[in-house]
Amino acid sequence: MILNRAMECMDRESMRKLQSERLIETVKRCYEKVPFYRRKMDKMGIKPEDIRSIDDIHRLPFTTKHDLRDEYPFGLQAVPQSEVVRIHASSGTTGKPVVGTYTKNDLAMWAEGAARVMAASGVTKGDIVQVSYGYGLFTGGLGAHDAAGLLGAVQLPTSAGNSEKQIMLMKDFGSTVLCCTPSYALHLAEVIEKSETVKKEDLKLKVGFFGAEPWTEGMRKELQERLGIKAIDIYGLTEMCGPGVGGECEYQNGTHLWEDLFYPEIINPDTLEPCEPGEFGELVFTSLCKEAMPILRYRTRDLTRLIYDKCECGRTAVRMDRILGRSDDMMIIRGVNVFPSQIETCLTEFPAFTAQYFITVDRKNNEDTFDLDVELRSEYFSPNPSKQMPYIKPLYDRIVSMVGIKPNIHIKEPGAIQRSIGKAKHVNDKRKFQ
Ligand code: ADP
Ligand code: ZN
Repeated sequence: MILNRAMECMDRESMRKLQSERLIETVKRCYEKVPFYRRKMDKMGIKPEDIRSIDDIHRLPFTTKHDLRDEYPFGLQAVPQSEVVRIHASSGTTGKPVVGTYTKNDLAMWAEGAARVMAASGVTKGDIVQVSYGYGLFTGGLGAHDAAGLLGAVQLPTSAGNSEKQIMLMKDFGSTVLCCTPSYALHLAEVIEKSETVKKEDLKLKVGFFGAEPWTEGMRKELQERLGIKAIDIYGLTEMCGPGVGGECEYQNGTHLWEDLFYPEIINPDTLEPCEPGEFGELVFTSLCKEAMPILRYRTRDLTRLIYDKCECGRTAVRMDRILGRSDDMMIIRGVNVFPSQIETCLTEFPAFTAQYFITVDRKNNEDTFDLDVELRSEYFSPNPSKQMPYIKPLYDRIVSMVGIKPNIHIKEPGAIQRSIGKAKHVNDKRKFQ
């Protein structure tokens, strides 16, 4: 179902017009209400009147994560505190978290963004939406929760963790929809497979909305087969609202971005110039409707490209390719750029392996080392190294051909690699501490 046909299927010309109107408003508000933006724009010699249409967006200043941290906690707020009804913060592992504040309208807009994604894959009244994203400051839990509520579905706020209980409730309550990180979904699939009391056939799950971290087509295949569901990619970030900035439609061929709410650009992260259409680069968003914390040209550090071809579903909202990774997740190993998602892609091509992996990068004798822990499935596992060799060799060759560096592959027992209930941690780069 298309939840908001007028917005999701608007012709390009009308969309540009709407985006222009909303951008002009947003810039005006930023300039008038947020000293940070006024300073930035004054420094660049730009006045709100200079922004006459969406084509002028390139003249505006960027906003970075660094800026958000400097303005912690409420420096970017454009409304009095009495208008704020919710505060979230990103999981940010270092330093101060990034804060997002919301007015009532902001929450409604966010819920609609995420609900458009769920509605596209048929979620409706009567569905039981098990929200296994963490509830709390992290936007995942409440974001999915409010979207389910907007659609009139049952909100089942299990939050993340306690996996045995998750699957028991999934069975007993008859959950039809699962929302969590893809890595946690994979873990739940494993717990179901091992369970004596819950069998995949007992479950009523139809669809899962997975996001908050990069994942691959290989992982999709794995999740769809193992959970017997359709696995849908949902994307978002605290700086814009949370999950629901965009998501895949039923055709699963790229993430539609809700361009009436967030204007996307792709820039070259080195030159900061716009990329050619279809070219990979850094995704940048400008919020077009946010009240509490409007943000101009936020540099997400997520690397992807935009696809403007028409989608079979009838939506005109631009599609984004899968996120290759964040620029700060990129490892430079022996001079070669490597993303964890590339390793996941290679790994999931081999059925003998589970999709779990952990990368350790270090520097020894002036040379980068790249160790990759992987697990063989129990049917294939043997502690005997000579029996592991036939599996290691093809994976090694595939990684060398795909990323161009030679990994030291270590086979672990099934279940040995740490599972995560939220965003997975796939890398330990020890060079950072040297
Ligand atoms: P943090 O920056 O602490 O992780 P957020 O929870 O706001 O805080 O995370 C937003 C980021 O999560 C995005 O910028 C992106 O890197 C990642 N992300 C979210 N959804 C997806 C997705 N579907 N695919 C890939 N990456 C995603
Ligand atoms: Zn579509």
